[in-house]
Amino acid sequence: PVNTLSGMQVSVMTALVSFDRVFEVLDLQPLIAERPDAESLPAAGQALAPEIAFDSVFFRYPSADEVSLASLENIALRRPERLDDSWTLDGMSFVAPAGKLTALVGPSGAGKTTITQLVPRLYDATQGAVRIGGRDIRDLTLQSLRDTVGVVTQEAHLFHDTLRANLLFARPDATEDDLVQACTAARIWDTVVALSDGLDTVVGDRGYRLSGGEKQRIALARLLLKSPPIVVLDEATAHLDSESEAAIQRALKSALAGRTSLVIAHRLSTIREADQILVVEAGRIRERGTHEELLEAGGLYAELYRTQFAQQSSDELQPEASAAG
Ligand code: ATP
Repeated sequence: PVNTLSGMQVSVMTALVSFDRVFEVLDLQPLIAERPDAESLPAAGQALAPEIAFDSVFFRYPSADEVSLASLENIALRRPERLDDSWTLDGMSFVAPAGKLTALVGPSGAGKTTITQLVPRLYDATQGAVRIGGRDIRDLTLQSLRDTVGVVTQEAHLFHDTLRANLLFARPDATEDDLVQACTAARIWDTVVALSDGLDTVVGDRGYRLSGGEKQRIALARLLLKSPPIVVLDEATAHLDSESEAAIQRALKSALAGRTSLVIAHRLSTIREADQILVVEAGRIRERGTHEELLEAGGLYAELYRTQFAQQSSDELQPEASAAG
């Protein structure tokens, strides 16, 4: 009984934490206002995926007081114009080129997640601007921004509903063929057909429980259905078995192809494939370049590589090395 009780406390605490998060996001919504003269970006698919640019972005998270004041009065956040050392993003400038993969790496707390939250406007820059295709994202309609930027976090959220409903959520007008194609490209279709009810299987806490790797591939299938020109992705850190690891890598590759992607990279295979790596530390870009260039430079990246990625390197390189030999 004691074990059951302590387990229950953990579940209750977890539930409360998620509620907090929900309210946190709801509270923030009034801060992200659409300008009356906001414009849309060209529809997806008509042009090359647009680039993302951070232009001297300073950012600090609003304090609890600022958030509640702003949501009570439904006004834009008034921010003190002071430049001190407490910036989460400290004058950050970079370009994530159109159609290319940009990987963000850096120590914990460096600001990588914050960068990815500014692109879909979960928060606005305190100073400076985030631009998509040269346009300040505050000048875009929220609908256009939502259609343009696809976000995949580490924890894919699935509703307690059928797999089909969970997928259609990304694109309500998708046909059966679209669903099959997306699931196939996300390397999850074989799993789906093996389930007793296929796409009509109910998933979620009280339904069929997908593994972490399966959930991520469902998230990628959703992304493919939505097909946004820009993808912001927090690559999963969870340890996966090697088969689902390889499946996810292939799924990722097809999901990101041709899109402008900004990825918090935890896997060596992703950073090696990146067209550009941005090394973030204390809210600034400390180094930028490709894997080879940064290793050569022997700076912070080389150090991170030794501490975070070298083990993955020996795991991944062994088969290649023997094939080459
Ligand atoms: P990690 O690799 O550990 O995920 P990160 O590089 O993604 O780290 P961020 O999550 O962007 O770093 O955090 C940057 C800083 O902002 C940290 O000091 C963190 O404590 C702070 N921070 C993050 N989210 C919030 C928030 N919602 N409110 C206040 N401060 C926050």
